[in-house]
Amino acid sequence: MDQPLQQGIVNLLEELKRYLNRQRELYGEELYVRPAQPMTPPAVPIESRREVLLQFYYEVKDCQKCALARHRTRLVFGSGNPNSPILLIGEAPGFHEDQQGKPFVGNAGQLLDRILAAIQLSRQDIFITNVVKCRPPDNRDPLPEECDACHYILARQLEIIEPKYILLLGRIAARTVLKTEASIADVRGKVYSLGRAQVVVTYHPAALLRNPQLKRGTWEDVQLFQKLIRQQE
Ligand code: URA
Ligand code: SF4
Repeated sequence: MDQPLQQGIVNLLEELKRYLNRQRELYGEELYVRPAQPMTPPAVPIESRREVLLQFYYEVKDCQKCALARHRTRLVFGSGNPNSPILLIGEAPGFHEDQQGKPFVGNAGQLLDRILAAIQLSRQDIFITNVVKCRPPDNRDPLPEECDACHYILARQLEIIEPKYILLLGRIAARTVLKTEASIADVRGKVYSLGRAQVVVTYHPAALLRNPQLKRGTWEDVQLFQKLIRQQE
């Protein structure tokens, strides 16, 4: 075998070894094989996502599909960069979100900003929304029927944005998006796939405010999320 060819094979094997080691770091001993991705073009071309999303917002902003419509000041659709491959999904708007019409602007939102900064992300780098778009009275958990009624909005947002990485914040987001009743402790720390997207679940920042012991797990989850993103860069 000639010298350059031999060297080429050695380099290729080295690269494969590095790749497999990275895979092991991320997913453990189980070999993670990404399902073959069909070469279908995106449903909405990236350059028109902002406009299509805005148009959809105007279609749903007066939604009356569940009882939460009666309590809201305004529907909280979502904010950030719709061209981003990264989507965060929370639970439901609280008092400040309902007042301002933007997700995660209260205390939990401020903590979320610090968590994002720790993995070098800002609000401009992501799009962020909630499972339920209107504030439940007294900040109670949204009911399963409210999550179901509202799902058509999130489902269409997913179609338009076509995220590659989704971070689910808390049990309600995990339950709705991954269709699981498992506890957060059971679903966090792993990578799921949803269509073309890779999905990580972590604790809701409001839960961290109540229970700082959850910070460590959250830190691990967001680092896993960051690794996924970095791997593709
Ligand atoms: N908690 C959420 O889940 N979403 C918000 O927008 C604010 C607080
Ligand atoms: Fe419509 Fe969702 Fe608001 Fe219910 S919570 S009224 S389904 S937008």
